[in-house]
Amino acid sequence: MTDTLRSADDLAAAGLISGVEAEVLRTVLARYAVSLTPDMAELIDPTDPDDPIARQFVPTAEEVRIAPEERADPIGDAAHAPVTGIVHRYPDRVLLKPLHVCPVYCRFCFRREMVGPNGLGTLGEDELEAAMAYIAGDPRIWEVVLTGGDPFALSARRLGIIAGRLSAIDHVRVLRIHTRVPVVRPDSVTDPLVRALRTFGGAVFVALHANHPREFTPGARAACARLIDAGIPMVSQSVLLRGINDDAATLEALMRTFVENRIKPYYLHHGDLAPGTAHLRTGLAEGQTLMRTLRGRLSGLAQPTYVLDIPGGYGKVPVGPSYLRDTADGQRVTDPDGREHPYPPEA
Ligand SMILES: *Cc1c(COP(=O)(O)O)cnc(C)c1O
Ligand code: SF4
Repeated sequence: MTDTLRSADDLAAAGLISGVEAEVLRTVLARYAVSLTPDMAELIDPTDPDDPIARQFVPTAEEVRIAPEERADPIGDAAHAPVTGIVHRYPDRVLLKPLHVCPVYCRFCFRREMVGPNGLGTLGEDELEAAMAYIAGDPRIWEVVLTGGDPFALSARRLGIIAGRLSAIDHVRVLRIHTRVPVVRPDSVTDPLVRALRTFGGAVFVALHANHPREFTPGARAACARLIDAGIPMVSQSVLLRGINDDAATLEALMRTFVENRIKPYYLHHGDLAPGTAHLRTGLAEGQTLMRTLRGRLSGLAQPTYVLDIPGGYGKVPVGPSYLRDTADGQRVTDPDGREHPYPPEA
């Protein structure tokens, strides 16, 4: 396979859906874009109806069912957008979204109403100027998080211009890029792209979005190594997804794979309430149980923080299990095997 799959017909031709499904999916795809890179398409076992890679990228008819609690802007970006392309919810950091294009379209995407060919598009020159002026005008902004869309879908030249402009703003000390490209299209992590990131004089971090250990092909591992060897530390972001990684063995393997590739597990996101994604979400209690299991059997280096982005724009908070509870005479703390102990210990 050499071409990116972008339509129901492409998926049918690749044997990933049937002709009947292609008809049904036309309505879904009129609303939510499909894109599957050759790197990801080749990982799919077409004989496995529950393939965890297919489930992330191949649309299904279930997406037409919109649950009442789901919303077009699930994490409330719009409530904190002072200028086009900026989301400023926390004082010390902003999101800068230079484009709304991705090399793949994840079926569970929290910004699925904003990304794709019918999405919010790419910032024009004037909009980028206004976004830069906003960042330059607020000295509290210590970190800029490039997101979108996928910033690594930009040309190295364009990324270099953005990194250089941010570098000229004294109070911006940290540049973080959220991307899926190192796993879904690893050949795009080129030397010019890595050099473009280094145009930023402060600390540069890359946050990699990956959800299943199988995504770490030899090419993906090499792409991450190119970034890290160039002095760019990496952290991980995953989404807890029903039928993809919502079991302890898969999550454990995913977190170990990150660490083995020198990527520090950072966030495990609870699935956001994006339209038509209920079939891919778990409950919070299931996530907490999984996190408890991981705490018992996985290196501390490999532990992510389980977070929920509160609908309405109220921010991200940890929602992992609590190990501490108050009692009449002090506190009780639970050990990794589930036994409770008084704290402070009895004399
Ligand atoms: C997720 C997010 C961030 C980054 O949050 P961290 O907890 O620093 O990773 C920043 N701004 C907005 C609006 C966000 O949604
Ligand atoms: S890569 Fe990120 S922004 Fe793009 S479709 Fe997937 S979840 Fe959405």
